[in-house]
Amino acid sequence: MEFESLTNKWFVVNKDVALTETIDTVITRLDGYFRDKECVSYVTSGKRLPEDQLRIIKNYAKQFGVDKEFPEIVNSDVHYKISYGTEEIYAWQRAWSRLLNKGVVINPPIEAVCLFDYYKNGVNKKGQLIPPSSHFYGGAFDIGGKGGDDPTPSDELEIISGAMAQDSGLGIKSFLLERANNCLHVNCKRPLGLLLFLTFRAFQLLCRCAGGAAGFLYFL
Ligand SMILES: [Zn+2]
Repeated sequence: MEFESLTNKWFVVNKDVALTETIDTVITRLDGYFRDKECVSYVTSGKRLPEDQLRIIKNYAKQFGVDKEFPEIVNSDVHYKISYGTEEIYAWQRAWSRLLNKGVVINPPIEAVCLFDYYKNGVNKKGQLIPPSSHFYGGAFDIGGKGGDDPTPSDELEIISGAMAQDSGLGIKSFLLERANNCLHVNCKRPLGLLLFLTFRAFQLLCRCAGGAAGFLYFL
C-alpha cells in the first residue's frame, strides 16, 4: 500500500523508515505545521523489530564505550542468556542497563530488568522491569532534527507541542525528547476508526443475540 506521508515536502520520511497506518496519518497531518514554520525535518525511525532495537543498542554501546566494559553485547542476539551471579540475564542486558545509567534512554528489545542506577523523573528504576519500545507496535516514530546543520530537535519540539495544542485530534499521545540520542520520540494514539468499528461490530453481535433471544421468546 502507498503511504500518504511519503509525499510530504517539509516533514520528510527518510528512506528505509517502516511506516504503519497509525503513524502515516499523524506524519501526513504534521507536514502543514512544519511548512508553516518553514522548517524541514526528518522522520528517522518508524516501526522497528526487536532485532532492529538490539542493533541500535549495540551501536550506542560502541559509541559510548560500553562494549569495552560488557563485551558480551557484541555477539548477543535478542533471546540469548548468560549467567549473572545466581541469575540468568540477556547477553545485552548489562550493556543496555549501563546505557540507561549513562543517560542514553532506550527501551530494551524485549521486557527486561534494569540492572544499574537509572533515574527517571527522580525515581531510581534499578531492579524494575522496563517495557519494550512502542516502535514494535508500529505506534511510534522518531524525529531526528535537521541533519547536519542543527542536530538538536528543539524547533521540532516547539512545532509538535504547537500542533497538539491546535488540533486535539492529531493522533499524538505523548512525546519525549531523548537528549542523548538527539531525537524526539512521538507516541501515537490507536486510530479511532478501528476502535469505533470494533465497538460497532460488538454492538451488532449483541443485537443479533438479543434479537434471536427475543424472537425465540415470542414463539414460546
Ligand atoms: Zn523512538
